[in-house]
Amino acid sequence: MDKELEGQVALVTGGSRGIGLGISRSLAEAGARVAVIGRNADRAREAAASLPGTGHEGFACDVSDPEAAKALVSDVEASIGAVNILVNNAGITRDNILLRLKDEHWNEVLATNLSGAFHMIRAVTRGMMKRREGVIVNVSSVVGLIGNAGQANYAASKAGLHGLTKSVAKELASRNVRCNAVAPGFITTDMTAELNEQQVADLQSQIPLGRFGAPPDVAHVVRFLAGPGAGYITGQILAVDGGMVM
Ligand code: NAP
Repeated sequence: MDKELEGQVALVTGGSRGIGLGISRSLAEAGARVAVIGRNADRAREAAASLPGTGHEGFACDVSDPEAAKALVSDVEASIGAVNILVNNAGITRDNILLRLKDEHWNEVLATNLSGAFHMIRAVTRGMMKRREGVIVNVSSVVGLIGNAGQANYAASKAGLHGLTKSVAKELASRNVRCNAVAPGFITTDMTAELNEQQVADLQSQIPLGRFGAPPDVAHVVRFLAGPGAGYITGQILAVDGGMVM
């Protein structure tokens, strides 16, 4: 494949594990220098060091903290360069049925999954608008499209990301900044590791392709959306789910 992102700087939140690490690797393979973000500094640095090519760096940041998100973008720009591609992938679950869902768990999930993306987008927007180019990809979930019993907080955060994606796409299109979302189905990572064999079998029976996805399945789509081949695509929510939602 071409190194279509040569010379670009990509910032990937939650890039230290799972889908985010797959995205970081894909963007590095495409030639980008990648800022890998996680709450844990050592894990983010190790992940950055494992990527192909040079110029990658790991940073610790809790994206739910607006000031930390702002400072992070300044740090990344000072050490790697202006951010051309932002991937909002950091996400958490705190599942429970409605009657047992604690305020704390509602707020935590919204703060990371939705407000975190907003904080990061706001922090990169001025630079992208000035340069009249930029790409934002939000990692949501099919649960944001169809809802899920026991995941009201998570589903609300991901549906919120869809509204954010389309609003940002409309607001920044005239400055040549594109914003899209990928909505993964079930992907094998630490997040889905808690499911037991029976749950996995039940879920697989609802997936037309008959299997869970792997991080590269999502990462390749993010690479496409970040690159010039997707130059005329903005404001879209693209499901990467083995056909679960159609
Ligand atoms: P994961 O394996 O649990 O990894 C989560 C990543 O997010 C880690 O790198 C973690 O870094 C980082 N993170 C969490 N909270 C953060 C915060 N406040 N600030 C900065 N970084 C934070 O998750 P995953 O399965 O790869 O999921 C990645 C994204 O895909 C999430 O948005 C998730 O909702 C979405 N998704 C996943 C699936 C699935 O089946 N796995 C399906 C649909 C959507 P540290 O550990 O260092 O904090």
